[in-house]
Amino acid sequence: MTELQAALETIHPELLAMTRLFGLPDAFWDPPARYVLRAEELSGSYRITFGFDQLSAERTLPVPSEADPRVQHLHRRRAARRLCKQTLYDLCRKMTGIHPPWGSLTGVRPTHLMLEALGEGLSPEAAVERLVRDYDVTLPKAQLLAEIAAVQRLLPAPDDAFMDVYIGIPFCTTRCAYCSFSSGEIGDGRLVPPYMDALEHEIRSCASLIAESGRSLRALYVGGGTPTALPEKDFRRLLSLIRECFPSACETTVEAGRPDTLTREKLRAIREAEISRISINPQTMNDRTLQIIGRAHTARQVVEAYALAREEGLPHINMDVIAGLPGEGEAEFTHTMEEALRLHPESLTVHTLAIKRSSRMSLENAPLPDGEMTARMVSLGLETARTLGMVPYYLYRQKYMAGNLENTGYALPGHACLYNVDMMEETSHILALGAGGISKRIWPDEGHITRAPNVANIREYILRVDEMIRCKKDLFLQAADPEK
Ligand code: SF4
Repeated sequence: MTELQAALETIHPELLAMTRLFGLPDAFWDPPARYVLRAEELSGSYRITFGFDQLSAERTLPVPSEADPRVQHLHRRRAARRLCKQTLYDLCRKMTGIHPPWGSLTGVRPTHLMLEALGEGLSPEAAVERLVRDYDVTLPKAQLLAEIAAVQRLLPAPDDAFMDVYIGIPFCTTRCAYCSFSSGEIGDGRLVPPYMDALEHEIRSCASLIAESGRSLRALYVGGGTPTALPEKDFRRLLSLIRECFPSACETTVEAGRPDTLTREKLRAIREAEISRISINPQTMNDRTLQIIGRAHTARQVVEAYALAREEGLPHINMDVIAGLPGEGEAEFTHTMEEALRLHPESLTVHTLAIKRSSRMSLENAPLPDGEMTARMVSLGLETARTLGMVPYYLYRQKYMAGNLENTGYALPGHACLYNVDMMEETSHILALGAGGISKRIWPDEGHITRAPNVANIREYILRVDEMIRCKKDLFLQAADPEK
């Protein structure tokens, strides 16, 4: 087997994602194959040819040669896989005539390519040109990436000397129809005390890992789930624990996603704990949609929660909204954006609905806006953020997104959430505590990441917390990369 063939051995899922991007049926890949794929190495070049019926596409690329033998194999493998996907992309464009907004990019983090180009010394204009030319990304999306990269470059640079902390509270009041997280409904609250005991044990056992591994704490994020779904007593216990064990975080976020979980007491506790950022998320400001998607609150409660949080003097409120929700069109999304303008959050995250297999919505036949309409909503989200004086600062994509679009975080200057950037760019070590958290160790020299996932099931987590603690110690205290 040649080096090129070996690099492409496991590429099928990515090729499948590409044909899905164009709406081609998965049967495209069924045997007997009607397509032709040729992968050849010819005098210092890779050549890929894809054909289907009378149509064909071909690309060649000089084989990358790096001075550093440790990264040579990795670079060649990446280049070969990109070449193969792009050649298939060319064929799909010929077959369907469709131009996807993100061109041939199917990955979660398109910002990586922009940062890579800038890191090579290209000007922002030249980097935009490269994304348009080499990956067929549409010009507005490539320019959005350049803008995001410019904002990210002003943030404290990722550094091996730092670590972020994530704490997961896997409870919600009700389950949203599109939810694919492993959080459960809080129900009668019976699981809360044993969960909090296990979490406290894990936090106390792992907090010292940051210093023991020679690092300092950077950003802390409490998510889930909905942390504010905890009863007041447990919520205060969580905040005191955070203050005691992680006093030096330069930024702390607490998800307060559901407005119906917020009380003056909880908001006061958040302020007293000096939490720098909270997130109150309407997703939509239309009551009918809120009902359809299974959120047991009203738009009025969102307005009241914002008023209460302002009264309590919280310095930074983020708002999450979703474009492409069932039953919504331009008028409904415009209404949500008008309300966002009135509530004036410090940051706004515009998500595009992604329906994963694990969500309830995929089982129901909810009428969804088409890709074109969703794209208009996403543009409206961008316009609203600009009217609010915000700049885009992070972006990621998911599978199954309406219109093959993206999620974009916008913030007022100086309000970008460092944790979101670290998390999405995968540039920082993450110590994740609580059910479903995934700890990550970055190996910057080798260019890869090792992970220690906690079990997602709440009961399992309570029973097996000591095992989770051991795995994290192994992950962060081992001296050398085990995969080397
Ligand atoms: S608030 Fe978030 S975690 Fe909770 S059910 Fe809804 S989507 Fe899932």
